[in-house]
Amino acid sequence: MKTTADFRAGFAAVVGRPNVGKSTLINALVGSKISIVTPKPQTTRHRILAISTRRRSQIIFVDTPGMHRGATRAMNRMMNRTAAAALADADVVVFVMEAGRWTPEDDDVLRQLGRYDGPVIALLNKVDRIRPKERLLEAIATLRDRYDFEHVIPASATQGDNLDSLVHAIESCLPESPPLFPTDVKTDRSEEFRAAEIIREKLTILLREELPYGLTVQIENFERDCERIAINAIIWIARESHKGIVVGKGGRMLKKAGRLARLDLIKQFGQPVHVELWVKVKENWADSEADLLRLGYETP
Ligand code: GDP
Ligand code: MG
Repeated sequence: MKTTADFRAGFAAVVGRPNVGKSTLINALVGSKISIVTPKPQTTRHRILAISTRRRSQIIFVDTPGMHRGATRAMNRMMNRTAAAALADADVVVFVMEAGRWTPEDDDVLRQLGRYDGPVIALLNKVDRIRPKERLLEAIATLRDRYDFEHVIPASATQGDNLDSLVHAIESCLPESPPLFPTDVKTDRSEEFRAAEIIREKLTILLREELPYGLTVQIENFERDCERIAINAIIWIARESHKGIVVGKGGRMLKKAGRLARLDLIKQFGQPVHVELWVKVKENWADSEADLLRLGYETP
């Protein structure tokens, strides 16, 4: 029988400005697509737990929306609050940044950390892009001057480089404890939530410019029998004038999004999946706290 002295468990909040690779990193560490990833900022809108149970530890990663500036819409304020609240429960914080690219938004994140007094690990992500390699050493040195980080770790989430070092660093910051979640569980989120996110991921990738920020996906029906999963989802958009773009000529855009989502959902759920999508308009839903709640955006 394992004694708790052999085992560590706790929460690692992953923070950073949008698009630095927080969700990619977490998925790589958990070995499963828990959080959606796109090349566009503000893809993650919710607090999502991704659980990695290893031989000697259980790390509960808290994926957060990136902290960002100029949050005028209710949704963006909610996203910043969610990111800040994750710090309150964290045993350790992983501050993700792009190696060799420090911006004023990184300064904002650093300022938020002023209110947190636990250990902070700096994760310099995307080192695969850094050339020449000497620049990395410079980046590490300047970082050490900015904050008293527990560890500074260069890594590449997409290449899987140096992620073991990060795991060890996190483990060293966790308290001795038995697992906090069943050891076969990988997330706190339902299959419905994950399906909605995967559909939103495809739309975000396919649609240009501002549109992805104005839409959200709600699962209306999710039915599983022994043969397949049938999903009906509503794509809520904020303006009538966007409908044509989301539906596409002859419904082409919607079909394409549905097809890509279906393929990914089959991969994630390991079962045939049928997807049906509808587009509906709810004027300025992202500006309304009440609409946000109705559409599944919790406010911490
Ligand atoms: P988040 O907003 O911080 O969660 O960032 P995402 O995980 O959504 O990633 C944003 C973009 O950065 C995506 O296009 C990723 O494929 C890319 N990305 C993430 N990690 C790396 C990395 O280590 N190297 C490179 N080259 N790209 C990465
Ligand atoms: Mg993300």
